[in-house]
Amino acid sequence: MARVLVTGGAGFIGSYLCERFLQEGYEVICMDNLITGSVDNIGHIKDSRFSFIHYDVTNYVYVQGKLDYILHFASPASPLDYLEYPIQTLKVGSLGTHKALGLAKEKGASLLIASTSEVYGDPLIHPQNEDYWGNVNPIGPRGVYDEAKRFAEALTMAYQRYHKVDTRIVRIFNTYGPRMRIKDGRAIPNFIAQALKDEDVTVYGDGAQTRSFCYITDLVEGIYRLLMSDYNLPVNIGNPHEMTVARMAKEIISLTGSKSRIVQMPLPEDDPKVRQPDITRAKTILGWEPRVELREGLRHTIGYFRKKMEIPESKSLR
Ligand code: UDP
Repeated sequence: MARVLVTGGAGFIGSYLCERFLQEGYEVICMDNLITGSVDNIGHIKDSRFSFIHYDVTNYVYVQGKLDYILHFASPASPLDYLEYPIQTLKVGSLGTHKALGLAKEKGASLLIASTSEVYGDPLIHPQNEDYWGNVNPIGPRGVYDEAKRFAEALTMAYQRYHKVDTRIVRIFNTYGPRMRIKDGRAIPNFIAQALKDEDVTVYGDGAQTRSFCYITDLVEGIYRLLMSDYNLPVNIGNPHEMTVARMAKEIISLTGSKSRIVQMPLPEDDPKVRQPDITRAKTILGWEPRVELREGLRHTIGYFRKKMEIPESKSLR
């Protein structure tokens, strides 16, 4: 049986990856230090092929037995978390990636790292394709994440070129879905939690900045296809359906049937003004494109938040 290690496996994306690889017939080892991940995300997995190791991948990692694949997904991933865990964010992207690559080299495993659209920073070209080098402020509050991921990409390419480790790099754009934390701090979980409680929905700045949101199952399909390909250069995976943040706030208020008002809050430092993936490469090389419509994805996500927050179904979803 093929074995896969998922670092950050108890996180939002990592937990879906664990499930996907179990479905595909693999033995899955999930590793997480649980600073932003939670056992709640994997507690339902009752499968003898699944195991959990509570461990911080920035330390020396040893896994007994063979490994076929490593998916390095451990990292805080919300701007709120970078502020709370700046050093851990830098360490897991740099030292953690080094440990994961070292393990891949030792085991002869293929390794896929979770990179991010943040490598493009506040982009000066639009939409962003993989050949764009980005516009990142190294010393701003987001720099801890952006630069760690840029370093992770550089280290991964070096291991691929120098040590011939078989590697993949996925640049993940904004993703949403069930298992995001209520207090995650990112736009969609904030808006849904606020709307379900009829509290003010906090739009940062004038809300004219744009993002493009991908539903979790679409993302996981793209990642799976990338790992199974033999393509070593970075690939954007995201949904090109771009919208303003203000539009997203309105959509969520409408879908939850909420009485919430929209209020403006200060725009965080270095908040990118636009973001949209150019997915030509994923389409061409992986035959992948997103399938889940925004409203459908939001309905599933709202349903999850409603349950988690114990909000009765008094207001029917529109
Ligand atoms: N945002 C917002 N209100 C919130 C949370 C986020 O207006 O309560 C904005 C944020 O300033 C950014 C966009 O929504 O412009 C997406 O933010 P998120 O934190 O989800 O991820 P980012 O794409 O910035 O990494």
